[in-house]
Formats: sequence, C-alpha cells, structure tokens
Amino acid sequence: MSGARKVHIRSFGCQMNVYDSHRMADTLAGEGYAETAAAGDADLIILNTCHIREKAAEKVYSELGRMRRLKEAAARDGRRIVVAVAGCVAQAEGAEIIRRAPTVDLVVGSQSFQRLPALLARVERGDAVVDTEFPVEGKFGALKAPSPQATRARGVSAFVTVQEGCDKFCTFCVVPYTRGAELSRPAAEIVAEVARLAEAGVREVTLIGQNVNAYHGVGPGGAPWTLGRLLHRVAEVPGIARLRYTTSHPGDMEASLIAAHRDLAGLMPHLHLPVQSGSDRILAAMNRRHTRAQYLRTIERLRQARPDMAFSSDFIVGFPAESEQDFGATLSLIDEVGFAGAYSFKYSARPGTPAAELDQQVAEDVKSERLQRLQRAIDRQQAAFNARCLGRSFEVLFERTGRYPGQIVGRSPYLQPVQVPGSAASIGEIGTVTITELSANSLFGSLVGKPGAPGSERGPLAGERPRRRDPMPAEPGG
Ligand code: SF4
Repeated sequence: MSGARKVHIRSFGCQMNVYDSHRMADTLAGEGYAETAAAGDADLIILNTCHIREKAAEKVYSELGRMRRLKEAAARDGRRIVVAVAGCVAQAEGAEIIRRAPTVDLVVGSQSFQRLPALLARVERGDAVVDTEFPVEGKFGALKAPSPQATRARGVSAFVTVQEGCDKFCTFCVVPYTRGAELSRPAAEIVAEVARLAEAGVREVTLIGQNVNAYHGVGPGGAPWTLGRLLHRVAEVPGIARLRYTTSHPGDMEASLIAAHRDLAGLMPHLHLPVQSGSDRILAAMNRRHTRAQYLRTIERLRQARPDMAFSSDFIVGFPAESEQDFGATLSLIDEVGFAGAYSFKYSARPGTPAAELDQQVAEDVKSERLQRLQRAIDRQQAAFNARCLGRSFEVLFERTGRYPGQIVGRSPYLQPVQVPGSAASIGEIGTVTITELSANSLFGSLVGKPGAPGSERGPLAGERPRRRDPMPAEPGG
C-alpha cells in the first residue's frame, strides 16, 4: 500500500473495545492511516469484536459476509481492502476465522494489537496472519498516543483503560479466557495519559477495566497503588473536573476506594456494581466470591460515604438450577438496594465456561417470564427517580450538540442524559441545570448558572435513590 491510506474501525461491545479501537486508530495514524466512516472507501477494515453476547462469533461471520462483498467490489475497481478481525472473538476463535472466512487477512487478539504495523507489513507480503498471543511486552507502552486533534474529535469525556483481564473466573463468563489474567498499568503512565487528554480539552475521565477496582498498578515509589489512591492522583490533574470508573467487582470495593467517594468531590456519585443474583445459592454456583449480605453491606458503606450515591447493576436470570425462590431473592435485593438502572439478561451458555456444562438448565419460557418481571421492577424504580428530578437543579457537563438546532446534551452526575437549550460554545463546560421535563430516557431542563451560582445544589437527591435506564453499552466485567 502507498499514498494516503484510510482505515475503518467498527467497534462492538463495551467501552474497553471503544478505547482499544481509538488506540488502534492512533497507532495506525503513525503509519499514515486516516480514519474513515465509510467502510467501502477504506484500505483497511478492522472489526473490533466482542464475545460477551450470545452467538457473538456467528454475528461476526455474518458481518464478514458483508466485508467480502465490499472487498470484491473494491477489487473490481482495482483496489485492495485488507480485512482484519480484532478483539475478543479474534482471541477466542483464532485461525478458525480465516478458515471459515477466507476474506479475512489478519486476526489479531485483544492483547497483541500494538503489533498492528508489523502484522500489516506481513499481510502486505501476501501472508494470512494470526496473532492471538499474550505477549510479555507492555501493550500500552507500545501504543501511540492520540494527537490533540483526535482527542478533541472524540469529545470532552474520555475513557482510559487502567486494568485488563480477570482472575475471578465466574462460571458463566468468557472474559478470563479472552482477556487473560489481571494486569494493571503503572500509575505514572495513566496519569501522563490523563494529563495529555486534559491538555486537549477533556473534562471527564472514566477509568475502565474488566475488573477496574482490582487495580494494583505500580506507583511511582515502586509499591502497588489501589484504585482509590489512583483516583486521588488523577483528580489532581489540572483541567479534569469529573471522574468515574467501571466495571467493578463487589469483592474488590476496598476501604480506600469507598473513602474516595467521601473525599473526592469530582468523583461522580454513581457506581455500576454488578451483582448478577440476589440468591446466595446461585452466587456460589456462579463463583461470584461474595454473598448477598456482603454486597448489601458494601452498598451501605458507600451510601454512608456519599449519601446521594446511585447504583446500577447487572443481572443474569435463569442461571442453571435457579428456582423461583432464588429469583425471588433477586427481586427482593432490587427492592432493598433501589438501583439507578440495570442491564439484565437471560442466562445463555458460553462454550468453554463451566456453567455451560451444568445440569438443570432453566427452560426458555421461564427465563423470559423472569426477565420481564425483573425489568418491570427496575423500570418502575427508574421512573420514580426521574419524577423526583423534576424541579431539581444539578450540574451537567455538556458533551455535544443535540439533535435539534440550539440544543446541547450533557450528563448529570448520575450519568443521565440531560438536554437543554444552549450553544455549542458551552460544550466542555459544566453548568447548573434545572430539570423541567422528562421522557423515558432523558431529562430536559434549562441552564440556570455556572457551578456555584445561586440555585446550584451539590447533589439533587441526597439520601434518595436515583434511578436511570443505563445509556452505556453493556460492560463485560465485574
Ligand atoms: S463476570 Fe466479571 S468478575 Fe466474573 S469472570 Fe467475568 S469479568 Fe471476571
């Protein structure tokens, strides 16, 4: 390949994949590739895949059928499109992908995409290349940093991967097999990345990892830091006004992290804390390594640290052998906690995981019926929370223009989308908004002032239990 080259990257799944896609684009920018939104115009198409959903691999093969047609059309015009499959499906399927879909030139796993330039050079020489190793060299250190322009184009709220992989081995989950063992980035590397983002205009950073609160990266003195300590340091980066982190495991909510919610005003009062089930019997079968009582105690400690804390969670209904009594325990846990939102799924077996081998799989119609009951419970609580937001004022970070002219959209402290009349010049600013109207998924309001202006409150619903329909893609982790 020569001259100006274009890459089209399609990202599936969670924020960790979105982050990886950005880092692939940054690394390829150093090789002369510009990003394009049009797959047909690209010289290189990368599908950055996710393995968390049912039939994930089959969906990738069906997408590859479309890529084959694009590739054939380009060939008729005398152009070559290189097709690469990256991410968790690449990691899990490896060479099988090229065997089943010969249109694919390159398979690159989630731990080796820093090698993309070298791998593409081999593709150039005519090889079909598969790299699904877990290399010893540091992936993050080998990746190129984004340009300030690329950072600005991605918005004022950024994700930064601080941790990857998982050692928990929940019996239903593929993550330990596709992302490998827990690995934490050194604190100084993360702080430098956040500082670069802030210099380019980023105001909010979400630290991400499959098990983000298991973070134990080496600090500047050589001793490992906890996530709580890292959050304190990142909060000191000039320009960073808001912090979040996801996805957390209940067993890793250690004291310094809970204290950070009390001590750091910039740490937003919203936490995604997957519980999966409210039944101790099912939690044990899932190998979740915590009990219902321990989960509830953690919620209580977080609310003591920050009374307006809101929680969202993940639930799996119909795990093998889940009885009506077990499911009832999940519904009662929902009532007890008062979640701000939730992702909920019917259990489906993932090949290669221990739960896939269990007897007593629950019938499909039973799973569907339980899922509906669970979602109705969550929806009721969310609607009640939104209703309580009416007439309240809170701070919103404006992230983008809205669908209609003269409208801007931001996020509340609880991650709810908030739409207000305003100008694009306010993007990147934090303003105080009074909520005047609601829809199923958004709040609407008017800007009443800058932070600290009369009418501003630190949190709208201290002591109450905010709810939201979680707007983010489901996160494989925690
Ligand atoms: S569900 Fe979360 S904690 Fe459990 S194995 Fe998967 S990534 Fe690890």
